[in-house]
Amino acid sequence: MALTVVIVAEVTVSLPYPRELIRSLEFIADVCNRRRAGELDSAASLRAICAEWGFPGASSATRADAEATWAHLPAVERMWDGERDAVAGLVNRVFDETGARPHLVRHDGSDWHLHGLPAGSPIADRIAVDAAMAIADLVRADDLERCRRCADSRCDRMHLDLSRNRSRRFCSTTCQSRTNVAAFRSRHAADVRT
Ligand SMILES: [Zn+2]
Ligand SMILES: [Zn+2]
Repeated sequence: MALTVVIVAEVTVSLPYPRELIRSLEFIADVCNRRRAGELDSAASLRAICAEWGFPGASSATRADAEATWAHLPAVERMWDGERDAVAGLVNRVFDETGARPHLVRHDGSDWHLHGLPAGSPIADRIAVDAAMAIADLVRADDLERCRRCADSRCDRMHLDLSRNRSRRFCSTTCQSRTNVAAFRSRHAADVRT
């Protein structure tokens, strides 16, 4: 985890995005990935992942909050995977359905940034709106290509490609080396056969 943070800090210098936008996208990718992996299934797991990422207002999240959060994730994944014009519509739908009301805030030592809903709104809606606002910025910049899925078909995890030339195909070095090893083995097997 510490290593990941260091890499992100280095790479973001060259990107035209504020750090909290990158954090929002990485947070929602982690939520979707861990939900798919079966690691998120309770109020306690929702509270824990929000605490881990510093997403505020989840400390009293209930079972109903957790269920409502999981229910938003298919829509989030469609925004992540979608084609630009479709994603614009999906983002607007999230704004409509949650009654999003963006306002600039500055708190707890942070600089001015957008909150999509007032404090005290349901955590599930705040998570969905935060994701929709971050993805809206990528729609505007025509940079949705950065929202990727791992090129290892056995993995399929979501990751944010922060590389300069948008070339990061794998979610992790583990998947990259596993794929490289598999490619090497199949080449080697072909050599043996010929
Ligand atoms: Zn804030
Ligand atoms: Zn992967």
